[in-house]
Amino acid sequence: MQNLTSPPPGQAAGKLIEVLDAAIVGAGFAGLYMLHRLRGLGMTARIFEAAAGVGGTWWWNRYPGARCDVESMQYSFSFDEKLQQEWHWSERFAAQPEILRYAEHVADRFGLRRDIRFNTRVTAAHFDEAVGRWTILTDRGDRVSARYCIMATGCLSSARVPDIPGIESFRGRTYHTGRWPHEEVDFTGQRVAVIGTGSSAIQAVPVIAEQAAQLFVFQRTPNFSIPSRNKPMDEEYERWWKSDYAAHRRKARMMRTGILYHIDERSALDVSPEERRRVYEERWAAGGTAFMGAFVDLLRNQAANDTAAEFVRGKIAEIVKDPTTAALLQPRDHPIGTKRICVDTHYYETFNRENVRLVDVRSAPIEAITRTGLRLRNGAEYAVDSIVFATGFDAMTGAVLAVDIRGRSGASLREKWAAGPRAHLGLMVAGFPNLFLITGPGSPSVLSNMMVSIEQHVDWLSDCLVHMRARGATCIEPTQEAEDAWVAHVAEVGNRTLYPKANSWYMGANIPGKPRVFMPYVGGVGTYREECAAIAAQGYPGFRMSAPQDAAAAAQ
Ligand code: FAD
Ligand code: NAP
Repeated sequence: MQNLTSPPPGQAAGKLIEVLDAAIVGAGFAGLYMLHRLRGLGMTARIFEAAAGVGGTWWWNRYPGARCDVESMQYSFSFDEKLQQEWHWSERFAAQPEILRYAEHVADRFGLRRDIRFNTRVTAAHFDEAVGRWTILTDRGDRVSARYCIMATGCLSSARVPDIPGIESFRGRTYHTGRWPHEEVDFTGQRVAVIGTGSSAIQAVPVIAEQAAQLFVFQRTPNFSIPSRNKPMDEEYERWWKSDYAAHRRKARMMRTGILYHIDERSALDVSPEERRRVYEERWAAGGTAFMGAFVDLLRNQAANDTAAEFVRGKIAEIVKDPTTAALLQPRDHPIGTKRICVDTHYYETFNRENVRLVDVRSAPIEAITRTGLRLRNGAEYAVDSIVFATGFDAMTGAVLAVDIRGRSGASLREKWAAGPRAHLGLMVAGFPNLFLITGPGSPSVLSNMMVSIEQHVDWLSDCLVHMRARGATCIEPTQEAEDAWVAHVAEVGNRTLYPKANSWYMGANIPGKPRVFMPYVGGVGTYREECAAIAAQGYPGFRMSAPQDAAAAAQ
């Protein structure tokens, strides 16, 4: 067992720098709102953030073309009416610099920075049963004692570069989309390689193509992408949202994805081929992820899904002039939407440019990175000046498990999650009292408008802490039975959909050796919210609450 005076094994002692009610790890939107709420409850709280600034995703992902794919009127906080009325978004889908400015504005507006320790990575968090507190260690050698440890570490913050031999020998520049430099990167006149064709690459490729002399896009698996139809913010649309923001947000919170858009309640198979085409054309013209709301059963019924997939494959064939390239860009290995649907600005059109070439690395994988570029297994060599890794993240669990988290009796979270993540409601883990996960695995998280999910988790947790305070409790932990039941429910609901058919990062399939488990909760944001609210209203069944003196007893 760990206590406040002895550091966890393998860690330097460090000085005890502070004693807090709550330590929050991460200063993205989740951490910022969490800090704001805890302060409102009169708690002492501090954020520890590895980056030099706030914004999380939007601090790190500065690659060309980065922007949100949930409309900005919805991809923003709802907790403060003045904030949402006063902030003006310049585009339908704001670009990264504007979203980062928004995060900075929120931090300044609510005076959050004074309680954030930047450039500080949390390396370990160990629960001390004797005192019912967490000891948190940082890479600066600090030691912090906190009653509550809140992981706001992000689902997509652990950037991943594939293990390709020879990376260190490359003489040019390398970049990862999720770790983009802060100074401007200018590809003018360069030969550039982009590895990957997920959402990040699909946004970056059209912009890099405009600068580079030659762009090679190395594709292993094509993805479905819908045009964003991004445009300057329509004043009337903004007025409509702001005329009753609270009511619109209330509706959005009950939607399946936490996004307010029309979901056609018909089956794709119950309408005529002409009507189906009309609906798809309409959604394609409107742009964005709302395409997947064209019919109610697109993610449940393979035959229904096939109609949407075929429509998009047809669009790719219409847009891309070279038939071989068009065929390569047409996804055929997964149902549409079972990998995160991409949203683009002229992605497919970019392959009609003279200076852009799609390289199929499914048939001939990248074998090595050399001093001058890339070599494929078939012996083909590509000489480039820069390589952009758009190769994604160790999603949902990567950032949490990068921290050495130990609960009761020194049990390690890494070991507990060795066969896949287990958490009650995606929020708390049995055996790890007072440890909270914001948008953790088993919650709707990445299948939703993350702002809605973040606010819901932070609000639920804040209400829970108020409830505990009123009862004199300082320790909370889910029961093993409740956690098992929830994990089984998440799997069962997932298995009723087409999602498990894809080799997606939702399934952990992008990380060699990662357990293949469908991690997010696909039951819907509204349903999930109701479930969480019902648990709170019933006095938190499935959770054990205790005071410090009986905290250790609660474990027995
Ligand atoms: P993050 O923003 O990821 O913040 C987590 C923070 O924790 C990071 O700053 C990280 O440095 C810090 N951290 C992690 N581990 C440690 C540690 N051990 N010690 C200290 N600090 C640590 N979602 C949508 O809903 N709509 C979108 O349009 C959308 N677009 C996206 C575009 C991109 C390019 C990416 C990568 C993701 C996108 N997402 C989108 C998901 C996005 O991650 C969330 O919307 C949201 O920003 C997550 O906020 P967060 O605070 O939970 O996590
Ligand atoms: P990603 O979806 O995981 O895509 C990674 C890409 O890299 C895939 O195409 C993958 O191919 C490829 N890859 C990995 N290793 C490779 C190798 N060794 N050789 C060749 N190709 C390799 O990552 P991402 O594009 O960064 O997106 C992650 C998530 O972030 C998105 O799904 C989304 O949720 C979010 N995001 C959102 C937006 C937005 O529009 N707002 C933008 C960016 C990101 P395989 O598929 O074959 O593995």
